Amino acid sequence: MDIIVTRTSALITDADVVPVIAAINHQIVWDFAPKWQVSGTLYLNSGPTGAARCSLQDTIDDPDALGYHVDENGLVEMIIDVEACQSSGDDWRTCLGHEALETLVDSLCNLMGLGAYTSFIREVCDAVEEDFYPGLGGVPVTNFVLPSYFGIGPVGPPWDMMGQLSGPAPALRPGGYIDELTGGAWTMHLGDRADGYMATRKNGRRAWRKRS
Ligand SMILES: [Zn+2]
Repeated sequence: MDIIVTRTSALITDADVVPVIAAINHQIVWDFAPKWQVSGTLYLNSGPTGAARCSLQDTIDDPDALGYHVDENGLVEMIIDVEACQSSGDDWRTCLGHEALETLVDSLCNLMGLGAYTSFIREVCDAVEEDFYPGLGGVPVTNFVLPSYFGIGPVGPPWDMMGQLSGPAPALRPGGYIDELTGGAWTMHLGDRADGYMATRKNGRRAWRKRS
């Protein structure tokens, strides 16, 4: 799935976005696609017909999120609130990568783990969202879990790209979280040191959401 990124945030310029998109595309090709068997390219301002949309802006209509991705009547859309990221000490660059990678795996926000892990939503960055590593040009890119974390394919370890997780779902890195659906009710598991900013959140730092 291709993703067209547009920027209206006054806090950054298109020139700031260019190297970030390059780093995420490089990560997708070399790190992410081989693990998750998905493909996709991010573009700035214009791209292929039918591509998903991602907006870098300074407002968001969900007070519990810095960013999210949704399936809006079949149109996949991502929102990143750059202002909220900066004011909370977060990095919009890894927030963008977070939403992009999660969209590539589960664009409709409706996939779960397999086997013993079917109660866990298949969000590939939430459990490790505080972890990042240097990407192309030194731009930080987000850690992500591997299919093994959700019971897909060969059993781990490793359970994540950086090899930091101690086990499959619901193991979490510090600052990570995972949503579990049991008996029709959602429960959010929070990792260690999920205090401060995260402690004020009812949803995850970067919530997923599906609109009907
Ligand atoms: Zn997420």
